[in-house]
Amino acid sequence: MPKPTIVVVDDSPTVLHQLEHDLQRKYRDRFRIFEATSCQQAINQLQQMNVQNELVAAFLVDAQMPEMQGSDFLKVARALYPKAKCILLTTYEDSRATIQAINTSLIDYYIMKPWEPPEIHLYPALDDLLADWQAFYETSLIQLRLVGHRWSPQMHEIGDFLARNRIPYQWLYIENSSEANQVLAQLNLSQKNLPVVVCPDGSYLIRPSLVQLAEKIHLKTHAEQPFYDLIIIGSGPAGLAAGVYGASEGLHTLLIEQEASGGQAGTSSRIENYLGFPTGLSGNDLACRAVIQAKRFGAEIITPQKATKVRLDGQYRCVELSDGTELRCHVLVLACGVSYRRLDVSGIEHLTGKGVYYGGSITEAMACIDENVYIVGGANSAGQAAIYFAKYARHVTMLVRADSLAKDMSRYLIDQIASTNNIEVKTSTRVIAVQGKQHLESITIINDITQEGQTLPATALFIYIGAEPHTSWLKSVVQMDEKGFIVTGSDLVHEGQVPKGWLLNREPFHLETSVPGTFAVGDVRHGSVKRIAASVGEGSMAVMFVHRYLENSALRA
Ligand SMILES: Cc1cc2nc3c(=O)[nH]c(=O)nc-3n(C[C@H](O)[C@H](O)[C@H](O)COP(=O)(O)OP(=O)(O)OC[C@H]3O[C@@H](n4cnc5c(N)ncnc54)[C@H](O)[C@@H]3O)c2cc1C
Repeated sequence: MPKPTIVVVDDSPTVLHQLEHDLQRKYRDRFRIFEATSCQQAINQLQQMNVQNELVAAFLVDAQMPEMQGSDFLKVARALYPKAKCILLTTYEDSRATIQAINTSLIDYYIMKPWEPPEIHLYPALDDLLADWQAFYETSLIQLRLVGHRWSPQMHEIGDFLARNRIPYQWLYIENSSEANQVLAQLNLSQKNLPVVVCPDGSYLIRPSLVQLAEKIHLKTHAEQPFYDLIIIGSGPAGLAAGVYGASEGLHTLLIEQEASGGQAGTSSRIENYLGFPTGLSGNDLACRAVIQAKRFGAEIITPQKATKVRLDGQYRCVELSDGTELRCHVLVLACGVSYRRLDVSGIEHLTGKGVYYGGSITEAMACIDENVYIVGGANSAGQAAIYFAKYARHVTMLVRADSLAKDMSRYLIDQIASTNNIEVKTSTRVIAVQGKQHLESITIINDITQEGQTLPATALFIYIGAEPHTSWLKSVVQMDEKGFIVTGSDLVHEGQVPKGWLLNREPFHLETSVPGTFAVGDVRHGSVKRIAASVGEGSMAVMFVHRYLENSALRA
């Protein structure tokens, strides 16, 4: 198999020569470098390589080529190699064109000319992008096949779990795929065995539980030790940040995650406002990076395991897991986040997972090719989903209760929605019922201003509303507000009075709950900002107070 190629296009022979030299110096062992002085020359070569199934890892293209803009070249190149990393070579004067390319999601990065010294201005960014491409490429080689019914909730749950844990797989619907029927026949199975997960080595699982599936795909499902300095419940951005800081500062750290690392952020198709990623990144990418970082420092992450109970035993905190195991620690960080509120309308329970989904855009988008998709919600997550679905669906309708998107959505998303032809926004509109026998067939909506009702045919309704904290299991443990968000720090102190049962002669630290040595961070915390950066900030900061708590406990002991 030939090495994957890095394609470099610049009309200046001097720049091209320098770039080729720098790339060869660092990457020649792993990649082939192909250089072209014209876009057309590069396109001809790419078409040939594509026919021969050769791999391309990255394009580095001058922003201002004489015959076409670098960004126009990248559109053609991306159609042939959708996963290759796209990098524009720019000058300070080209920055407007570069920003436009970023806004239209066309490029992954830009590098300013000249890039001397490459050790600072070229290699670090390229290393990162090539590692990302390599990770995608390696996982794409171990593709699982998921065979089942299109409207099976279990099929959806398995697909969602695989996608969110970054395991590539292929959906095969028994209703419309001859391959699905062939696979069943080869395995001597019938439709009553569905869904079935078939591994590349030919082994398979019939209607697996998520834990069985996790074990099959080599996720870590059990803790190595019974005791940790720090246990973090939830591995969304807040939990992962606490994990990175805790482990990097020498604490023996465990993260417990019930679904998939990355939390809500991991379900985002494109995060554009997280500092340091000017071209945006997918939630999956962010989660993947954070997981690697936490593990590199020695944090353990177990998935899928749900924390079901917490109790105190002297100076220790004990956490019971869904499989009955009990783990102990000095300090506990609750980073359990929130999930979408359930939509309480007639018919919805029966159709959840059969056309009605809470979140789930990345997983389901491919199943909605050329269909009409309805999205409920008017905040950023709904906006991102609409933009993502619009790439696959025929038409996307946003059903927004408020009278304008501006109430809850960031301006950059409102602008993107306005410029996407196949997204329609119906404001002052609510879903009041959903109908269907085996799966969703229609929805009934009402306009709150005109009171006009309509029943529309629909097969896909995605709900992105509200925020319900994952705290029902903590009710008798820590103090919460009336909506179930965990109260921390100075919010626990009223007129100088510490919370009931608080026995220490100090007030709770910032982010500390009503139970000493138990902290809450991120979206689950009362008064939190509900943004990735804020959650990461709180998770990181909490570790400082964890140390302070441990020092104080040691002093008292
Ligand atoms: C689709 C979408 C797009 C978004 N886009 C953006 C964006 O572009 N920019 C931005 O700033 N913000 C965005 N947000 C908001 C952002 O993702 C959240 O603010 C952030 O993820 C909160 O992080 P967290 O770690 O506090 O909680 P979460 O991300 O909710 O993570 C909590 C984790 O805890 C786990 N958990 C819960 N209970 C238990 C238990 N008992 N046992 C074990 N594990 C448990 C959950 O499974 C989950 O993985 C978006 C949100 C969504 C849903």
